[in-house]
Amino acid sequence: MTAQSPKKLLVLPGDGIGPEVMQEVRHIMTWLEQKRGLSFEVSEDLVGGASLEKYGVPIRDEVIEKAWAADAVLFGSVGDPRWAHVGFEKRPELAILKLRQELALFANLRPAQVFDALVDASTLRPEVVQGLDIMIVRESVGGIYFGSPRGIETLSDGSKKGINTEVYTTSEIERVARVAFDLARKRQGRVCSVEKCNVMESGLLWKEVVTELHAREYQDVELSHMLADNCAMQLVRNPRQFDVIVTGNLFGDLLSDLASMLTGSLGMLPSATLGVADESGKFPALYEPIHGSAPDIAGKGIANPLAQILSFAMLLRYSLNLQDAAQEIENAVSAVLASGLRTADIAGAGQKAVSTSEMGKAIIEVL
Ligand code: ATP
Ligand code: MG
Repeated sequence: MTAQSPKKLLVLPGDGIGPEVMQEVRHIMTWLEQKRGLSFEVSEDLVGGASLEKYGVPIRDEVIEKAWAADAVLFGSVGDPRWAHVGFEKRPELAILKLRQELALFANLRPAQVFDALVDASTLRPEVVQGLDIMIVRESVGGIYFGSPRGIETLSDGSKKGINTEVYTTSEIERVARVAFDLARKRQGRVCSVEKCNVMESGLLWKEVVTELHAREYQDVELSHMLADNCAMQLVRNPRQFDVIVTGNLFGDLLSDLASMLTGSLGMLPSATLGVADESGKFPALYEPIHGSAPDIAGKGIANPLAQILSFAMLLRYSLNLQDAAQEIENAVSAVLASGLRTADIAGAGQKAVSTSEMGKAIIEVL
């Protein structure tokens, strides 16, 4: 790796265990600067309950502007029981919803990866999940969660009807499929596109657009199609058949939660959400662990920092194009797990658990 101009990062630790696990990432950033000649210009700000407390809003416009200006955003988690009973506009969770919306982060990437050392934590048998490495790409700003008409209508007999509509346009499908195909080229070269074209028009269009894009630009990638219900079944029956899965908002929501449980460890899973690239090729992107603010263990120093650390590795890979640094961090995580070190959430019965900072230190030592 060579010296480079500083990369602008916006770091938003948030609430609960967010600041605790982010601290360990900050140590890794410092290590990369000192030992690998990288240079980060880090700006840190408050979001969620922490921002409500100081500024009266879950996120300030100024923070959204900073997110636009940054090369990437590293997010912790928001959610604070002290703000659980306030109105919708004062929910800490609005911070992340607003960021996703304002930055138009349309592609949500969730890897489900089984580390050899944690293969027993899976809900499935070791021989079914050993080596599992799936990437689910979920369209995240369109589809049935946002389509109109929507609402609850009262009928003439006084009963009601609830309406949601799944709408997808050619361009919405194409841009997310493109993300999936590009990813597959850097992985095992296979994309499985998932919809329900047998009963849904939007699914029919989905399949058609993905097929055409593939034929036009991505013939080097292997494309298959699967109905969403079958995909759920196949993920449990034989998950290693998948490399990249691309799907709409609703099916992606369900399938990515399902896939995360194949790995059996919530505190281990990172994610990325990517936006639309501008003329220069720069695209807004936000990286965050799958887990929430975990108020039940906040302040105890026992949270697993690996999901946050792996989210930072994704940031290095996808937003900064620093593949080597990302790989180094991922290898260090594997090695530390292989050495038997465990935080409480992944420790087996009778296994001694280490603290958040001990896990962070162990990663640096391996690095
Ligand atoms: P959100 O709605 O913000 O997603 P949630 O209600 O789904 O939050 P989490 O905050 O993710 O829940 O916590 C779910 C459980 O997992 C809690 O018992 C929490 O302590 C545990 N947990 C979550 N993240 C971690 C972590 N990094 N290390 C250890 N335990 C964790
Ligand atoms: Mg949750």
